[in-house]
Amino acid sequence: MANESDILKRMLDRERRARKEAEMLLEEKARALYEANLEVLRINASLESEVQDRTSDLTRAIREANAAKEAEKEFLSKMSHEIRTPMNAIIGMTHLMFDTAMTEEQREYMNSVHYSADLLRGLITDVLQMSKIEAGAMEYRGRNFQLRELLQAVQRTFQFNLKSKPVDIILDYDDRIPVQLHGDDVMLNQILMNLVGNAAKFTREGFIEIAAARMRSMEADQFIEFSVRDTGIGIAKDRLLDIFKSFKQASDDVELNFGGSGLGLAITRELVELSGGTIEVQSEIGEGTCFVFRLPFRNAEMEEAYEADQPERVSETQFANDRKILIVEDNPLNQRYLGNLLQKWGVLFDLATNGIEGVNKASQYNYPLVLMDIQMPEMNGYEATIQLRHMNSYKETPIIGLSAFAFDSDIKESLDSGMNAHISKPFTPRQLREKLEEYLPSSVRKTHLADAGFQFNPKLDTEQLNSFYEGDLEYARDMFSIFLKNLPAYAMELKDLLATDKMEGVGNLLHKIKPTFPMVGLGAWHGDVERLEHAIRKETMSAEEVKREVGEVVSKVRGALPMLQNELKRIEEYITQNE
Ligand code: ADP
Repeated sequence: MANESDILKRMLDRERRARKEAEMLLEEKARALYEANLEVLRINASLESEVQDRTSDLTRAIREANAAKEAEKEFLSKMSHEIRTPMNAIIGMTHLMFDTAMTEEQREYMNSVHYSADLLRGLITDVLQMSKIEAGAMEYRGRNFQLRELLQAVQRTFQFNLKSKPVDIILDYDDRIPVQLHGDDVMLNQILMNLVGNAAKFTREGFIEIAAARMRSMEADQFIEFSVRDTGIGIAKDRLLDIFKSFKQASDDVELNFGGSGLGLAITRELVELSGGTIEVQSEIGEGTCFVFRLPFRNAEMEEAYEADQPERVSETQFANDRKILIVEDNPLNQRYLGNLLQKWGVLFDLATNGIEGVNKASQYNYPLVLMDIQMPEMNGYEATIQLRHMNSYKETPIIGLSAFAFDSDIKESLDSGMNAHISKPFTPRQLREKLEEYLPSSVRKTHLADAGFQFNPKLDTEQLNSFYEGDLEYARDMFSIFLKNLPAYAMELKDLLATDKMEGVGNLLHKIKPTFPMVGLGAWHGDVERLEHAIRKETMSAEEVKREVGEVVSKVRGALPMLQNELKRIEEYITQNE
């Protein structure tokens, strides 16, 4: 029995121990589970916060990238505005200058100004265009055009540029190409200008051949193979692949010897690809280079012929509108440029210098057309247009936007705000005239400039004044009044510079004043001032002599002031009487 109870007890003990062990094990496992759970929670929490951190990092990065993109876009359009506005004035003024009587020497100088301004415009265009392409903002725009004429225009342009080198420019045109094609002729023109421009740059003698051949035609599609081949310096084999990349030149001394941004071919390739084509190059050092590209076009019905934008004489057109149009423009140089063109064409106008003034003026007179700058203080061109469109008498009036913005989206914004059309600055006289002809059609007449009948004071250089103003008395009035307005400030500045012996400053200021003399009929003094300016620059005169001579010029000008003021009054009276 005792044994039995012992056995029972031992069993019970064992069981109790086993249960305890099991409980302990359970407890241990529960604790481990609990800890594991805690760990999971901790990891989860940290994962969540990591995900949150990453998400907010990403959102921030995206926001920053978008802001950077916006800032870049804004910077580019601002830059293009800042650079293009004075460029507009320079190019515009050269057009006007070519329209005046000039000596051979002046014409030569003007040609250089025009050439350099064009180069600069090319560079700005390249940089802007590359950024536009990179931002995906460049669009293919097809229209009808005549390929042969386009190629001939490129050939003529370079024939003229190559005059000084023994380089022939040949056109090899396949007559099987249809007369009219449909495609983006602006892009094609640019591709060719880039390639032929390079060929002209890198070829000292021999020839440049531009060829266009029909490859195959499939129903409405035409594939054309173009090539631009030259007998120039050639490109080394190991550089051939790289030259289509931005800012790459075939050798490091190229920029030194030939100039250039290294962007031309990168843009060219992008444009070819945007037009649905391909481009390749073959070249041998010393033998020459050949660029070949193939583009698709569509057949097109005969349409109005392609008209190249060539320099023109401004005064050939005359409008006969008897109602004033409105210019809303804040920049004085652009006001002058626009004003001069309009005056030459016989278009009457009023001027407002910002959007608010524009809207005010428009509410007082029913203008048949408005030329509207976009970037202006107080109220910009978009806002002003929206306000005008709310006025009953301006629901249909043509409003043409003028802006230096280069982006398609900006042009769209102009049209969205209610404008009928848009002209990008800088614009040529032809571009403005065409828009006016389109939107002021009833007023276009071929008339002749009325003889102004005004006689300038014979004490002034009347020949110069007549040929400069061509009877355009309002222009003369503006120039006389600007001259008279600026003179006291110049005299004061000269006095200060002389008193502090800042001779270089004196030279610079004389240089600035000098060209204004002929504009008020004091051309004879131009030479005196020029000699003085040279003497200062070359330091061939003592400070005392400079002071005396400058003093004489100043007193001579002072002496002429009453005559100039009187002349301005006569001009103003004449204008009022003949209004
Ligand atoms: P760039 O503005 O410097 O001319 P591009 O992108 O148009 O820039 O050309 C890149 C480089 O390719 C040039 O600097 C030049 O070294 C080389 N290159 C282009 N076209 C020719 C050519 N027809 N003959 C010789 N070298 C050329």
